[in-house]
Amino acid sequence: MMQYPLTLPHLLERAGRYFGSVEIVSRTPDKSLHRYTYADFTRRSRSLAQALRRAGLKKGDRVGTLMWNHYAHLEAYFGIPVSGGVLHTVNLRLHPNEIAYVINHGGDRFLIVDDVLLPLLEKVTDRIRVERVIVVPLTGQPVPSGYEDYEQFIREPADDFTYPELDENDALGMCYTSGTTGRPKGVVYSHRAVVLHSFASAMADTLGVSGRDTVLPVVPMFHVNAWGLPFTMTMVGAKQVYPGPHLDPVSLLDIMQEEQVTFSAGVPTIWFGIYRELEKRPGHWRLHPKLRMVVGGAAAPEALLRGMDRHGIHVVHAWGMTETTPLGTVSVLKPHLANLPEDEQYAYRAKQGIPAPFVEVRVVNEQGEVPPDGVTMGELQVRGPWIAGAYHDKPNIRDSFTDDGWFRTGDVATIDEEGYVKITDRTKDLIKSGGEWISSVDLENAIMAHPAVDEAAVIGIAHPKWQERPLAVVVKKEGATLTLEELHAFLAPKFAKWWLPDDVVFVEEIPRTSAGKFLKSRLREQFRDHFMT
Ligand code: ADP
Repeated sequence: MMQYPLTLPHLLERAGRYFGSVEIVSRTPDKSLHRYTYADFTRRSRSLAQALRRAGLKKGDRVGTLMWNHYAHLEAYFGIPVSGGVLHTVNLRLHPNEIAYVINHGGDRFLIVDDVLLPLLEKVTDRIRVERVIVVPLTGQPVPSGYEDYEQFIREPADDFTYPELDENDALGMCYTSGTTGRPKGVVYSHRAVVLHSFASAMADTLGVSGRDTVLPVVPMFHVNAWGLPFTMTMVGAKQVYPGPHLDPVSLLDIMQEEQVTFSAGVPTIWFGIYRELEKRPGHWRLHPKLRMVVGGAAAPEALLRGMDRHGIHVVHAWGMTETTPLGTVSVLKPHLANLPEDEQYAYRAKQGIPAPFVEVRVVNEQGEVPPDGVTMGELQVRGPWIAGAYHDKPNIRDSFTDDGWFRTGDVATIDEEGYVKITDRTKDLIKSGGEWISSVDLENAIMAHPAVDEAAVIGIAHPKWQERPLAVVVKKEGATLTLEELHAFLAPKFAKWWLPDDVVFVEEIPRTSAGKFLKSRLREQFRDHFMT
């Protein structure tokens, strides 16, 4: 066979050639909709590539983006890599100290920034070393002096632009972990990894994204490439819908209804917000009858899957990480499992699923690889063509990789006979009680099914006798009441007695990470002495 590189210029040119009239819709800061087509997107991405080359960009140079989800970010997703540059998506929800850290550590030469995010950039300007800042005038206001205007920057047509020669193993992009468990670490994605990941994500038995879909990535483009969706959508020619900075449930439902979105993706907290809104106003929203959502980034409680089904929305649970580009496993029911009683089907769907093709998984504990019994816990380890083999500029993080070449995820999991992986916890969140392990995720998912509970996190807190004991931190539904005894009675049929939380505390809200996940380290700090006094 021919040696043909798996690189992005092919996907960009193909998109313009075959899907030229397909729409790309973006919500702008003032909530109006920006609409254009794949033909416009391809033309402008080429112009961006050409402008970057003319500005002196050399192969491998990093270009940072500080942007929401919208058309110009999509142009950066393609224009930067096809110019030979490396797209470095900076997580705008990080603390300014960390934003400065990742821009400097990533070695970004240029930066493309939304005008509405300039106040954020200005908090770090004197601490970062970038040569040029190019500002996207999303608001339509003139770009402040001292910055370059993106529209001016890309104004030259580039229809005969010659792409630089790219090897499929060249870097395409980079993203830092959001630092839920320590300092952000940089992961570099190759063209080959992203192209293969796009094929795998589009498959009917994974995310099943096709040219007949209208896709709304709610997951931010600064978080693991919006789970690779901008690349996957562009490969298949799906209509693309971007929410801009408006991520509240009503705005999301609004755009889903307006554009008749068929597929969306985000973390559980986003879908919980949407679910509450749907419950509040039943029958109000006219969503596409075949709307599917993929949920990942944190465990999707069974209660969420059931609740969304009641509204005719099919939720697919998936697992991944910054280090896995991120598609790792997807919980699509195998046909014979779809004949099981409903409760058993939900139990499978609430697991994280089976690995995508070319992703290998194993679960390892002190005794070696665990048996596929769905019970024995160990660390989840993975390998494959889109799994990171190292961290950017951190050659010494040895404990992230095994001697035989697997990536250590830091997640604790089980695998059942059917091969479905279930994440029971992150190593750091597992509760160690009297030498036994308790899964905080299992407990909080069960608690979230209680009718009085809006949200719940369970954390391990130091205990004088048992080393650690579970504490339930609960946000109650408006006007609801709940006692520890009631909670125990609710959980008792599902768990061993020693798993039940020793106490429950009520809070107004659960703190979140930059990616919208529960920030358990903050809770552990807040309630550190709860069982000691
Ligand atoms: P961070 O490490 O900062 O949270 P990532 O987005 O890379 O950033 O997070 C990956 C982690 O998120 C995984 O290691 C796992 O702990 C968690 N995670 C992702 N998807 C799921 C899921 N479906 N169920 C449970 N946990 C998940």
